[in-house]
Amino acid sequence: MSLRRHFRFDTAWLPEGWRENVVIGIDDDGNIASVQTGESTTDAIAVAGAAIPGMPNVHSHAFQRAMAGLAERRSGEHDSFWTWRETMYELARRTTPELLNAVAAQLYVEMLKAGYTAVCEFHYLHHQPDGSPYREHGVMAHAVVDAAVAAGIGLTLLPTLYCTSDFGSQPPTARQRQFVSDVPQFMDLCDDLRARTQRQQQIGVGAALHSLRAVPQPQLREVLESLHARSAGPIHIHIAEQEREVAECLRHYGQRPIEWLLDHATVDQHWCLVHATHATNTELAGIARSGASVALCPTTEANLGDGIFDLPAFIAANGVMAIGSDSHISISPPEELRWLEYQSRLLRRERNVLAGEGSTGAHLWRLACTGGAQASGRRVGALRVGLRADVVVLDLESPALLGRSNDSILDTFIFSGQPNPVRDVMAGGRWVVQDGQHFAEIPIAAGYRRAMRALQE
Ligand SMILES: [Zn+2]
Repeated sequence: MSLRRHFRFDTAWLPEGWRENVVIGIDDDGNIASVQTGESTTDAIAVAGAAIPGMPNVHSHAFQRAMAGLAERRSGEHDSFWTWRETMYELARRTTPELLNAVAAQLYVEMLKAGYTAVCEFHYLHHQPDGSPYREHGVMAHAVVDAAVAAGIGLTLLPTLYCTSDFGSQPPTARQRQFVSDVPQFMDLCDDLRARTQRQQQIGVGAALHSLRAVPQPQLREVLESLHARSAGPIHIHIAEQEREVAECLRHYGQRPIEWLLDHATVDQHWCLVHATHATNTELAGIARSGASVALCPTTEANLGDGIFDLPAFIAANGVMAIGSDSHISISPPEELRWLEYQSRLLRRERNVLAGEGSTGAHLWRLACTGGAQASGRRVGALRVGLRADVVVLDLESPALLGRSNDSILDTFIFSGQPNPVRDVMAGGRWVVQDGQHFAEIPIAAGYRRAMRALQE
C-alpha cells in the first residue's frame, strides 16, 4: 500500500524552470516520488504560493547562537577574530549537553523558518571544560542530533578532529582542552554516531578537521586513511579564514594553507573547504579542479573582519559554492546570498556581478542549493524525483512579494524580502513550518529561555 501524499502548488521552481499548478508526490520515506505539471485531476492538497527547494546550511556551530551580538564592543585597540574567539571560548566552557541541546533546537527552528531545510553541524565541543570526557562519550554530539530531531531539520553531523593549538604541533591551551581528541578516539566517536543514526533518514554523519592549525600532518594522514577505509561521508575543514593563519602556514610548511592541503590530501568532491577567504587565483583554480566545494559564510566573515572571498573568479573557474550561517550572527539564506553579490558589486563597482544568463537571485539560489547538496552529502537541492522533499513555500500575498512572478520572486526574496515571506516549510517530507509557525516552536523557545537564564546565572 502506498502512503504517498500529493500536494498541488500554485507555482513551483523545477530544474527546468517555473511551472504552474505543480503536483508533487511524496513517499513515506520523505522523498519526492513524482512531479507533475498541468495536472488538475488528482485530489492533491492545495498549497498556495511559490514552492522552491529548501536551502542547505553547510556551516554551523550551534552553541555560538547563544553569543550572537555579545561581542560587538571593542576590547582593545584592534579587535579581531582572535579577540572574538576568547568570548566564544568562555561560552564553550559554560556549554553543557542540556544547554547545547536547547540552543541548537532553538537555532534549528529559526533556520527552518528562514528557509534552511538542512544543516551541517561542525561539532567540536566534545568534552567537559577541563578536557575530561563525559561519562557518556558522545553526549554532546547526541545533544545536537536530538535537537535536530526535535526541530525536524535535516542534519549532517560533522564530528570534528582537534589536536593542537597551532602549526608545529603546539599543545592545546587550557581553553581548548574540551575540543581535543586523538585519532582513535575521534574515529570511535564517528563510528558510534554512524551506528546510532543509520536508520534515521534525516540524519547523516560526515567528519571535519578543525583546521590545519589544529590537525598536524601526521594526524591528518592517519585520520584520512581511517575515513577512506570506511568510505565515510563529507569531509569539511576551516581553511585560510585569517591572514595570520596563512602567514603561520607559510612559515611552518613553506606553502599557503589551500596550496598545502591540495598537495598533501586527496581533495575531491567529498571535501568542503570552509571560508577559503585568502586564496590566490591558482588556489581557486586548484579547488575548482579538485571538485571540492567552498562554504561561504559572508555575514560571519564580515562580522569577524575576515576578508572577502573572490567569488566571481571562483565561479568563472566553475567552482562549487555553498552557504553557511556559521556563528549565527544572521540566520537567513537570502542575507548570505545578498552579501555575496553586494561584496562583488562594491569591489567591482558593477551590478549583477554573479548573474548567470538571467536572474541573479535565481542563479545564486541554484548555485547554493546544488553546492549545498554536495557539501552536505544529502540528496537535496532541487524539486526533483528521488531527492528529499525539502520545500520552502513563499507567500505571494506577502507585501514583500506582491506582483512578483517567476524569477523575480527569487530576486525580490533575496534582495528585498523583508519581512520574511517564508510561509510553509517541508523538511524530509514533513511540514515543519505552516503559516509561519513551527510545529514545536513554543516548547523549544521555552527550553531556550530556561537555558539562557541558566547561562546568565
Ligand atoms: Zn566555523
